[in-house]
Amino acid sequence: MERLIEWINRQALSTKLKWTYLVTSGGVMFLSTLFLIGIQLYFFTAALIRQTQSQATMVAENLTAAMAFTDAEAAGDILSALRLAPDVQSAVAYDAQGKRFVNFTRDPDTRTAARDPHAPDTVLDYRGIQVTRPIQVGNRRLGTLVVQSSVTSVYQQLALYLALALPVMLALLSLSYFALSRLQRYFTAPILALSAVSQQISRQGDYSLRAEVPPAADIGLLAHTFNGMLDRIQKRERELEAEINERKRIEIKLDRLAHYDPVTQLTNRHFFNERLEAVIARSRKFEERTILMFIDLDNFKTVNDTLGHDIGDELLRLVSRRLSETLRFGDVLSRIGGDEFGIIIENVGQTGVASKIAEKCLAKLADPIHIHGHDIHIGASIGISIYPDDATDMHALLKYADTAMYYAKNGGKNAWRMFTPSMRDDAHKRFKLDTNLRRALERDEFVLHYQPQVDLRSGDIVGVEALIRWVHPQLGMVSPSDFIPVAEDTGMIVPIGEWVLREACRDLKHWRDQGHLLRVAVNLSGRQLKESALVVTVLATLREVGVDPEWLELELTESMLMDASTDILDRLHALTDAGIQLAIDDFGTGYSSMSYLKTFPVRALKVDKSFVRGLPQNPEDAAITRAIIAMARSLRMEIVAEGIETQEQSDFLRANGCDKSQGYLYGRPCPAAQIGEMLGEARTRACAVD
Ligand code: C2E
Ligand code: MG
Ligand code: MG
Repeated sequence: MERLIEWINRQALSTKLKWTYLVTSGGVMFLSTLFLIGIQLYFFTAALIRQTQSQATMVAENLTAAMAFTDAEAAGDILSALRLAPDVQSAVAYDAQGKRFVNFTRDPDTRTAARDPHAPDTVLDYRGIQVTRPIQVGNRRLGTLVVQSSVTSVYQQLALYLALALPVMLALLSLSYFALSRLQRYFTAPILALSAVSQQISRQGDYSLRAEVPPAADIGLLAHTFNGMLDRIQKRERELEAEINERKRIEIKLDRLAHYDPVTQLTNRHFFNERLEAVIARSRKFEERTILMFIDLDNFKTVNDTLGHDIGDELLRLVSRRLSETLRFGDVLSRIGGDEFGIIIENVGQTGVASKIAEKCLAKLADPIHIHGHDIHIGASIGISIYPDDATDMHALLKYADTAMYYAKNGGKNAWRMFTPSMRDDAHKRFKLDTNLRRALERDEFVLHYQPQVDLRSGDIVGVEALIRWVHPQLGMVSPSDFIPVAEDTGMIVPIGEWVLREACRDLKHWRDQGHLLRVAVNLSGRQLKESALVVTVLATLREVGVDPEWLELELTESMLMDASTDILDRLHALTDAGIQLAIDDFGTGYSSMSYLKTFPVRALKVDKSFVRGLPQNPEDAAITRAIIAMARSLRMEIVAEGIETQEQSDFLRANGCDKSQGYLYGRPCPAAQIGEMLGEARTRACAVD
C-alpha cells in the first residue's frame, strides 16, 4: 500500500487527475449498471410471478370440472396446456386429501418434485417461483394446484443485458481515457508553459521572460501572479545590478586613486610596493633574478621652483614617457615620489642587464626636454639592487636601491650605482646615526669647536670657523663628515643649524664684549638654504643675541650655488643686504665654471685643503692655488686657505697674496674657552711688542 502511495505521489498531477477521473467514472458506471441490473431483476421477476400466478389461477379454474369428476385424463390435458408457457417447468394438482392427482413436467426425464400444497400461495427462491392455487367449486375445495416456474429466463435476460452493457462500458471508458488525455494536455498546457518559463529563467538567469497568461481564471491568476513576481525580481535584479555597477565603478575609481599617480598616469608607490612583493614571491618560487631600480631626477626641484609647477608636471610626464620607452612590456615603472621613479624588471639572466638599462635611461634623459620654449636639462641618479644577489627581503631591497641611489647622487649625479655590501654597512651606520641624531639635540650632546683664522700679513686671529662636534655617550666623538650628510637627508640639519648659529653668536658676542675684533664663520647646509624661513631665523638670532650681521660669515659650497633657484638667490641677497658675508667653502672641488661666481653676492673664497696639501712642491696644486687667488683678486673677493699644516704652505700662500689662513698650524678646532685664552694671549703678546 505504501509503495502504491509512493508511486502515486511520484506521478505527474495530470496523470493523477486522469486516473482519478477514470477510476471515479468507471466506478460510477459499474455501480449504475449494478443498480440497473437489480431493478431489472426485480421487474422481470415480478412480471414472471404475475404471469405464473395468472397461469396458475387460470389452470386451477379449468381443472375444477376434471377434479370434480376425478377425470385424470382431462386434468392431465389441462395441465399440459402449460407447455405453451415456456417458463413453467412443472405443475402438480393435488386432490382434496392432498394426494397428487395429476402432474405436468416440461422435461419428462425429471421427476416432478413433490410440492407442498400447503405452502403460501407464492414462494420465490433461487430455483424459481412456486404458485399455489386452490381448486374449488364455490366454497368446496376440490384440491390444490402448485405451478413451478423457472427464473432462468430472467437470468438469461440479465446476462444478455450485461453482455451488451459491459463492452459499451469499456468502450465508454476507453473513449473517456482518450478524451481525458487530450483534455488533460489542453488543460495542463498553461501549467507546463509556466513551468517551462520558470525553468528557462533559472537556466539563463533572464528575468525579463514572462509567462503567457491563459484566459482560464485559476491558471490565469497563477500566471499573472508568477509574472508579477518576475516583475519584482527583475526590478530587484536591475537595482542590484545598478548597485553592483556603482560599487564596481567606485572600487575602480578608488583603486585608480590608490594605485595611480594623477600627474604621470603611472602607477604609484603603493602599487609599486604591492607589485614588488608579488614579483619577489614569484622570483623566489621560480628562482629568478629581479632588478629593482630607483631613479631620482637631479635638477627637478630647481625647475619646479624657477619655472613653476605646470612645467614641473609636464616635465614629469615627459620624463615618464622617455623612461617607459626604454622598458619592455611587463616591466614596471612607477612614480614613487615627487621626482622619484621606480622600475622592476623581472626574470633577468645576468646582473649586467641592470647597468645596460640604467645607461639607457640616463641616455634617454640626457637630451634636453623642450617645454614651452624652455630647453630643460634634467639628469638622473639611479640606484640599483638585485634579487636575490643583494637581498631576498623586499624592504632590504628597497633600502639598498635607495642607498645606491644616494651614492649615485653624492658621487656627482647623472650616474648609476649598483648596491654593494660596503654601502649596506654605511646605510646601517647612517640609520643608527639618524635615530641617535634625533635625540642628540634634546640631550644636549652637541658642542661647538672653533678653529682660528689668521691674517697672513699680520698673523693676528681675525676670525674663527664654528665646527660642530657630537659627543655621543656610546659612540664617542662623531665626526661631522659622518653625521652632517645624514642630518641633511633627514632634515635634522635645520634645527641643528639653528643651534650652531645661536651658540656661535653667543660665543662671538662674548669675545666681542671682551674687545676682540673677530668674525665667526658658520657652515650652512644646502638644506638650510632651501628653508624659506632662513633669512628671518638668522636675522632674528643675530638681533636676539646682539651680534652685528657684519661679524657673521656664512659658508656655502659650490654645489649649493649650482642648484640654486631664484628663491635661493633672493635669500642670499637678503642676507648680504643685511650685512652678512658669504664665503664659498671647499672652493675648487666642485664642477662649476668660474663665471657663475659673478652672479652670487659672495665676498670670500675658501681654497680647499686638498690643493693646500700639495703646496708648495706639487706644481699642479701650486698652479691651481695661484689661479684661484688671482681670480678672487680680480673679482675683489677675499681669499682664505684652509688645511694649512706647515710653515711652507703658509709662506707660499702669503707670497702669492692669500689673505687669511686656517689650519692645524695655527690651531686645531677647540672649545670656545680655549679660543678665549688664545685671544687673551695674543693680546698680551701684542701689548708686549708695543
Ligand atoms: P669644512 O667647513 O671645510 O671644515 C674644515 C674641516 O677641515 C674641519 O673638519 C676641520 O677640522 C678640518 N681641518 C681644519 N684644519 C685642518 C688641517 O690643517 N688639516 C686637515 N686635514 N683638516 C683640517 P671637521 O670639523 O671634521 O668638519 C668637516 C666638515 O663638516 C666641515 O668642513 C663642514 O663642511 C661640516 N661641518 C662642520 N660643522 C658644521 C656645521 O655646524 N654645520 C654644517 N652645515 N656643516 C658643518
Ligand atoms: Mg667650512
Ligand atoms: Mg672646507
